[in-house]
Amino acid sequence: MAGEQRFPLTTAHRKVPMPEWKGGGFCRWCNGAINWPNGRPAPTRSWHSHRFSAEPDCQRLYAIVAFGNIARWEIQERDQCRCAKCGATDKDGWQLDHIHPLHKVDRTAPDARRYWTTENYQTLCAKCHKQKSAGEAAVS
Ligand SMILES: [Zn+2]
Ligand SMILES: [Zn+2]
Repeated sequence: MAGEQRFPLTTAHRKVPMPEWKGGGFCRWCNGAINWPNGRPAPTRSWHSHRFSAEPDCQRLYAIVAFGNIARWEIQERDQCRCAKCGATDKDGWQLDHIHPLHKVDRTAPDARRYWTTENYQTLCAKCHKQKSAGEAAVS
């Protein structure tokens, strides 16, 4: 049907929803104003960054969602390759899973991006991941 969004047949649902950027001096991730540590505005910057300890690490949050490998490293470190369902440890075959599937996220909700942070990632072994994917396909 015209205009109907046909997730998950496309990959568009995987892209993180981003706010409209206000321009230099504002953060692309959270839209908040960016200041230097001395309190002066920083019009040349476009991300909050861990390089300035008083700031939220918006640049890293974006990197996790934008670059699959970084998400994998973060989750490997957190879960140590242990399957969230059956507890099996599979150093080579573990898979990164979205607990709440991205194609079911209401992208217009104000807090939609929490599904793109590591709290929505879990480790699954190949067997459990296959089972979960099969179940999701069956109900959707
Ligand atoms: Zn920010
Ligand atoms: Zn498992």
